[in-house]
Amino acid sequence: MRIAICPGSFDPITLGHLDIIRRSSKLFDVLIVAVTKNPNKQPTFSVEERMDFIRRCTQSIPNVRVDCCGGLLADYAKEKKACALVKGLRAVTDFEYEFQMALINKQLNPELETVFMTTSSEYMYLSSSAVRQVAGYGGDVSQFVAQEILEDVEKRFLIGRSE
Ligand code: ADP
Repeated sequence: MRIAICPGSFDPITLGHLDIIRRSSKLFDVLIVAVTKNPNKQPTFSVEERMDFIRRCTQSIPNVRVDCCGGLLADYAKEKKACALVKGLRAVTDFEYEFQMALINKQLNPELETVFMTTSSEYMYLSSSAVRQVAGYGGDVSQFVAQEILEDVEKRFLIGRSE
């Protein structure tokens, strides 16, 4: 069984993430979408909320599992018996950091491959931080996040703006 992990902050999951998840789920038997916990970042949505959003958006993809990871991805991959990490690439600017991480993970877990998947052109510009920024100013993010979570995403920023 070929298991892959698609890691990220997913704060919140965007249509760009979903495109990578959908396409890479076809390449593996099981794709674990793992919300990574970063103690240096103050997220807008809790880990549980982010996992719930991902679950709702990926309900129609039978081989997707949702989980979270608080430690080293290289160790987590071993524990899950995963053979690959899937990373989405938007532009060359993503590449330098991702390339370094891929080499570090290879050093830590030589069995683990990092697979880079290029974004679909319509999502090249899309990031969670852009969604947070637009929603923070009350803008329409319906073209950026899935219908399943739109209301909850907008609601969070509505609360923020009324404070
Ligand atoms: P961000 O906060 O920048 O959206 P995440 O840490 O949640 O990023 O991203 C997880 C993974 O998804 C990373 O490999 C990132 O490069 C990729 N990714 C994010 N947005 C897109 C997109 N629009 N197209 C392709 N890959 C993406």
